[in-house]
Amino acid sequence: MAIACKFGGTSLACSENIRRCADIVKSDKKRRFVVVSAPGKKNKQSKKVTDLLYECHANRFDEQAFDAAFSDIAETFREIATLAPNFPLEEELSAMYNQIKFSESNIDFVLSRGEYLNAKLFAAYLGYTFLDATKFISFKNGELDMAATLEKAKKIDRNGNYVIPGFYGVDKHGYVKTFSRGGSDITGAIVARVFDCELYENWTDVDGIYVSDPRVIEHAKKVNQVSFRELREMSYMGASVLHAETLMPIYEKSIPILLKNSFAPENSGTQILKKRTEVSDKETITCITGKSDYTCIQISKMLLDKQLGFVKKATAVFEEYHINISHTHSGLDNLCFFVERSQYTEITFDAFLKELETRIDADKIVGYEKIALLAVIGHNLSGKIGVLAKIFQVLKDKQISVKTIYQSISECNVIIGIEDHRLNACIKAIYQELIENE
Ligand code: ASP
Repeated sequence: MAIACKFGGTSLACSENIRRCADIVKSDKKRRFVVVSAPGKKNKQSKKVTDLLYECHANRFDEQAFDAAFSDIAETFREIATLAPNFPLEEELSAMYNQIKFSESNIDFVLSRGEYLNAKLFAAYLGYTFLDATKFISFKNGELDMAATLEKAKKIDRNGNYVIPGFYGVDKHGYVKTFSRGGSDITGAIVARVFDCELYENWTDVDGIYVSDPRVIEHAKKVNQVSFRELREMSYMGASVLHAETLMPIYEKSIPILLKNSFAPENSGTQILKKRTEVSDKETITCITGKSDYTCIQISKMLLDKQLGFVKKATAVFEEYHINISHTHSGLDNLCFFVERSQYTEITFDAFLKELETRIDADKIVGYEKIALLAVIGHNLSGKIGVLAKIFQVLKDKQISVKTIYQSISECNVIIGIEDHRLNACIKAIYQELIENE
């Protein structure tokens, strides 16, 4: 069986990094399906190729600005191409220049060119075959069409060694379509699924998943194993691990993921499995994370419990304005809806509150802003005695008032609503209590 391995943008930002990734690929013959991102940042000042492609598209009628962004892209690829001297780079670059400047290219096509050219170069350097993602990754109505993808992939010889560009596929009209940013993670998962790989390796620039964001907790502990369910909760609650849709293609077949650091391949990384196999009492907590800038709308209505269809009426107004509700909870005579601030695009938060007042027959509607949701995610949290007690002790010691709390019975998370500006301090204090003092 084979291994699908995806390399992220930083791992492939320059020739030196790419050489390191090639050594990794070559060190195991099973690594036959390689998925690449576009070159990422080489250093703090430089820009990701995908961001530069955005700039090119935005400035396609401003020659100077377009050329400035394009020359940064060309410079990055010229440096990488020193690895493959016979590669016809100048031809590729001039084709790319014309395609993105003079044709009626759609933005998705423009954005996909970083992955496209990086995959071609890496394939040439490795001596692997370049396999364009448009040959099998299919979209329908803007979403991945897994059935069509599986069908098309059947026609590809699976005994080959391939480098495949991440981040995009093709729609039914033959136009390139990209996933959302960070979407090469999804491509890696699709490749693992359609070529029946035993493992999906995701190579990045960090050692794996940390209990908390190392930008908040400097020496945060790395976790060895995470379950699919925990990963979903973590991504949803703001931990930037893998693209939130990565699990979809591999979930059914339970293909394990191994997160590794291409700059330190000897480190063990983090395994992401359908079910964790190592579960010690000490490893109950997998993640302490949080997201700020939520709003909350509280709707009060006397005898709410006797009103048939009231919730439906309220949620229909959210739906009409395409406002995605993140969390809800209800009391005897009230309902609360937590929504990310960024959801209010068609209508402002204040105008939406007024709209709700006219549309539903509530006694009172109150809006709150600047709320953060802090999540403690782990294995069998609801079955473990004392976790909540510890969290609340920390909140009491820190004098943090809790706006909401939610713990699901069967799942693996506790979510606490607090004021935005207390989020990081609160994560730090809970980390200290639940992880360092354990
Ligand atoms: N290059 C794209 C981005 O920067 C896709 C990816 O790397 O996953 O978002």
